[in-house]
Amino acid sequence: MSSALPERGAPWSELEPRMRELAKGDVKWRDGRTGMYIFNAGEDVARVKKEAYAMFCEENGLGPAAFPSLAQMEREVVAAGISLLNAPPGAAGAMSSGGTDSIFLAVKTARDHARAKRGLTGALNIVAPASAHPAFDKACMTMDIEMRRIPTKDYLADVAAMESAIDANTLMIVGSAPCFPYGLIDPIEALGELAERKRVWLHVDACVGAYIAPFVRMNGVDLPAFDFSVPGVWSISGDLHKYGYASKGASTVFFRSEALKDFMQFDAGPWPLGRMITPTLAGTRPGGAIAAAWAVMNFLGVEGYKRKQGEVTQAREKIEAGVRKLGFSVLGKPQLGIVSFAHPEIDALRIYAQMHKRGWFTAALVDPRALHLMLSPKHNEVAHEYLADLEASVGAVTEEQFAPKYAG
Ligand SMILES: *Cc1c(COP(=O)(O)O)cnc(C)c1O
Repeated sequence: MSSALPERGAPWSELEPRMRELAKGDVKWRDGRTGMYIFNAGEDVARVKKEAYAMFCEENGLGPAAFPSLAQMEREVVAAGISLLNAPPGAAGAMSSGGTDSIFLAVKTARDHARAKRGLTGALNIVAPASAHPAFDKACMTMDIEMRRIPTKDYLADVAAMESAIDANTLMIVGSAPCFPYGLIDPIEALGELAERKRVWLHVDACVGAYIAPFVRMNGVDLPAFDFSVPGVWSISGDLHKYGYASKGASTVFFRSEALKDFMQFDAGPWPLGRMITPTLAGTRPGGAIAAAWAVMNFLGVEGYKRKQGEVTQAREKIEAGVRKLGFSVLGKPQLGIVSFAHPEIDALRIYAQMHKRGWFTAALVDPRALHLMLSPKHNEVAHEYLADLEASVGAVTEEQFAPKYAG
């Protein structure tokens, strides 16, 4: 295969089938056999986001004066997010390109706030549970901050151990709602109390929770407080391209007040075009991602999200019951869309390999060894297929593992 740019262009009629051919090697996510990367809320949602994305795929969110449409859609998306998180009046936020971006922005905002308001001008650190997302490490690497990961206790943030790790240079503490590895909501109220007592910034990473947890609660599940209802929470990240079912490239980051959000802004100073000031790190911002998020939110509304997230809950309950029957134990008590489960005798990574052979593409944990599923509404239709294949996989691994190697 030649890697150079072709000398002569090809018509779309030729390119489209070639791209379809390329996609044949991809995971069969449309069948619901993928438990990561994809959030499948069905055909109707997929059509809305595709049309909306295409409609604004050339427009650029960098220019709100040129594209007031995008500015308005972003304002409405942010306001909708804020309305779900028990925020006080005056809370503010912005859209970003993803969870990692939102976490970067929260750390940058906290850092600039700490320099200006807390006089923290020297070395800084962040204290986070071991289950926190690596995006915090990336932010720390980039901004020369020390990342202090504290082992979890029963798979949750160990608040007492985190307290011991806080010192005068601690910029921020972190809790997840939920964390990605176990799908569990950290004790945010206790972290909030700690943050207030130590006068540090508490960021709640709700990247994979902000757009599912509020609806699960509306559906009657008793969730612990995890959002701005907890006084010490100063910022929250929530990804639209996860349980918001938006197209990839859409996340939100929220702050308790506009005054805190002001520290997020980048003022790059003078250059030949004047002064470049942007609200977030990005220059060019994809209009399609903003438009698709706006369209899906308005297509689903509260009712639609309650229904979709109810299907996720049902899928998780089916999977939990089924894996327990097969001898697995579920890690902690998941309440949202992620569930991890380990087996007391059988190596989960060998089961993982068997499931992969059967067409399932999911994540696995190495500490402890466990299977990991991030569920979508679509999985409610295929939970029984997953469990049947899991039973067969457990059988196959048991045979390998316990059969005498030499039966002569
Ligand atoms: C997905 C996720 C992130 C990172 O988001 P990206 O959009 O992949 O950059 C951060 N935190 C948690 C808890 C997540 O699930």
